[in-house]
Amino acid sequence: MQRFSAFALIRQALNGQKGWDRQWRDPEPKPAYDAIIVGGGAHGLGTAYYLAREHGIRNVAVLEKGWIGGGNTGRNTTIIRSNYLFDESAALYDHALKLWERMSQDLNYNVMFSQRGVLMLAHNVHDEQVFKRHVHSNRLNGVDNEWLSAAEAKAFCPPLNIAPGMRYPVLGAALQRRAGTARHDAVAWGYARAADALGVDIIQNCEVTGIDRDAAGKVTGVQTSRGAIRTNRLGIVAAGNTSVLMAMAGQRMPLESYPLQALVSEPVKPIVPCVIMSNTIHAYISQSDKGELVIGAGTDAYISYSQRGAMHISAHTLEAICELFPMFRRMRMLRNWGGIVDVTPDRSPIIAKTEVSGLYVNCGWGTGGFKATPGSAHLFAWTLAKDEPHRINAPFNLGRFQSGRLIDEAAAAAVAH
Ligand SMILES: Cc1cc2nc3c(=O)[nH]c(=O)nc-3n(C[C@H](O)[C@H](O)[C@H](O)COP(=O)(O)OP(=O)(O)OC[C@H]3O[C@@H](n4cnc5c(N)ncnc54)[C@H](O)[C@@H]3O)c2cc1C
Repeated sequence: MQRFSAFALIRQALNGQKGWDRQWRDPEPKPAYDAIIVGGGAHGLGTAYYLAREHGIRNVAVLEKGWIGGGNTGRNTTIIRSNYLFDESAALYDHALKLWERMSQDLNYNVMFSQRGVLMLAHNVHDEQVFKRHVHSNRLNGVDNEWLSAAEAKAFCPPLNIAPGMRYPVLGAALQRRAGTARHDAVAWGYARAADALGVDIIQNCEVTGIDRDAAGKVTGVQTSRGAIRTNRLGIVAAGNTSVLMAMAGQRMPLESYPLQALVSEPVKPIVPCVIMSNTIHAYISQSDKGELVIGAGTDAYISYSQRGAMHISAHTLEAICELFPMFRRMRMLRNWGGIVDVTPDRSPIIAKTEVSGLYVNCGWGTGGFKATPGSAHLFAWTLAKDEPHRINAPFNLGRFQSGRLIDEAAAAAVAH
């Protein structure tokens, strides 16, 4: 693999940028693989990378029906944080955050991880109590999180409006300083490049249309738009399409798929120094390195597979943003889009073996899985390689919806972005 370094950049600049190699191959599918990952989002690509790097399983294919990173990976607002309430979630998301902190070096690819801090606004007494509870719980779990008064929040984020009398007054905020954002495409590309260098075949434009099983029910391969491929280890990492794929193996999933939308403004000079989230009004805002304000909304009220959200949802979000940041009122929105998020009843993910031998599933990240990408991929690779969960993802099993041992982040925060 051609390595990126200051020296390489200078050499290529002097060379007219003509010496860069392709970042990954475009192979034809082989007849059989030791493991197949369905879904070329960052979770799937990362899984293939860790399978090859940490478990020596290199005869692996990632099958993607479109282009890599074209699903939710390339559509999200890139908020990364680990200040979740429950012990299980804090362990999972902080495992991911620690991997984010060294990802660019690990992959030799700049994923533009920026620990600019995430500020979560409290607008009423309930919010304040919930966030303070999070702060205490996080500290007990060794996860950084602190409570700021409204004035301290404004000092941290000067454009924030904390004037009294607003529809959504700011009473204070929880701040995780290690939290931030990353460049979503770069995460997919960085994993793809590193996995490819270890021998993983990344096969785009290859839709999985069926799952083959033998008489005993064990997975034997997949049917795809590019022919049948054999494997006895199949990982499904298909976000909003998970239910459709799992139904091919006769599995009914505890998932609902909703559109979730985001929008960006015209680019402006740096003005928003951190990420600001408001769970109460379902509005999230940060500023990209290009200068666009990146704004996220809540999910649509109805399940759907259309990759766009309803107008009234974004209108409500923009009204709230303008109230929190009056100076943005005259800005123009440049574009909006949607993704399909897979939501579980407790808003926590599933990273697990299934009752079908050889079939594994990683899903249920809903509105908040980008932040978990490296942790999710790392733990799913472990589960596939060892045929058992890692201690961190053991609670995130399918059985919890029967046993009732839920990890109810939905009840804890009303949202789990
Ligand atoms: C608008 C929006 C904003 C968000 N904001 C945030 C945020 O700020 N922070 C955060 O942490 N998370 C956020 N999320 C959630 C986050 O994007 C997802 O949880 C995460 O990206 C999921 O990654 P993935 O790799 O599992 O899925 P994806 O990137 O969706 O990858 C799944 C892939 O599977 C492929 N696929 C599906 N069916 C098949 C098939 N039959 N055959 C082959 N391939 C198939 C799809 O084409 C897709 O590329 C947001 C999501 C959206 C939509």
